[in-house]
Amino acid sequence: MYDGILRLDLPTGASLIGFADHIALLVVAKELEVAETNCNLAIDCIRTWHKTEAVLISSRKKVESAVVKVGAAHITSKRTLKYLGVTIDSRLSFREHLQEVGRKAAVTNRALSRLMPNTRGPKESRRALISSVTRSIALYAAPIWADAVFKSLYIGGLASTFRLSSIRIISGFRTVSDEAAHVIAGIPPFEEMVRERVISGHGCFRSYLFQFGHNTAEECPACFPTAVEDAEHVIFQCGRYATLRQELADGIGERLTVSTLVPLMLVSATNWTLISQFVAAVMIEQRRAEKARQRTRE
Ligand SMILES: [Zn+2]
Repeated sequence: MYDGILRLDLPTGASLIGFADHIALLVVAKELEVAETNCNLAIDCIRTWHKTEAVLISSRKKVESAVVKVGAAHITSKRTLKYLGVTIDSRLSFREHLQEVGRKAAVTNRALSRLMPNTRGPKESRRALISSVTRSIALYAAPIWADAVFKSLYIGGLASTFRLSSIRIISGFRTVSDEAAHVIAGIPPFEEMVRERVISGHGCFRSYLFQFGHNTAEECPACFPTAVEDAEHVIFQCGRYATLRQELADGIGERLTVSTLVPLMLVSATNWTLISQFVAAVMIEQRRAEKARQRTRE
């Protein structure tokens, strides 16, 4: 049913993203008026919309809203909009998304906790399985909002729900320290889980972005044309991170490889921290580079 819509000739800066029974219209423009006009023109081309919401994403200090016309109705953009389960806000900060997910995860965690009292409750392996529900809720679409994980204000609620969930697995008490609870339960802290999702290949790598049409090429911009920029290339091979990689090797006593990454992380708390810091530094640089490319494309 969407094929026809997706093939429409839309105004400059307007594009359509279709998934399941949702259609998102994305309009990029420097001026608000241009964005509104192009948005209206695009909507005129489509005309089969049932329920429409809009959000204006902007980095300007002044909070603005756009008005778009759908048939006879005028729709004013809202501060947030939920699309495919992710709350998108006008600053693209994902603050509201993380707050909402935090609330949801906390409610689920409380309900699950009742299933597993500390004494005479299920075994630890079952507790871990039950607790994975909380994690799935919390980590939904993590690569999209992974940047926000560096803002403690945004993820505070989620991180503490995570901690309570780990305490539940080990039948511990609230006085158990965060680190101890996570280590005994075998579950990394929330920030680490988010990073893991990013490392698993769904992050800011050109090969991944390329698959979804967000990038014009999948080759590494530094090692072109010899390497595809995927997680493995960036973490273990790419020349851009040679210095960081060498510093890490000096710190942990050997070079990181695909097969030694996890064993080396588990050797000591210092190793864990050094490797996490290395990965975080690489990811921050990857995001910075991708954002710079986005700006030149605009
Ligand atoms: Zn490279």
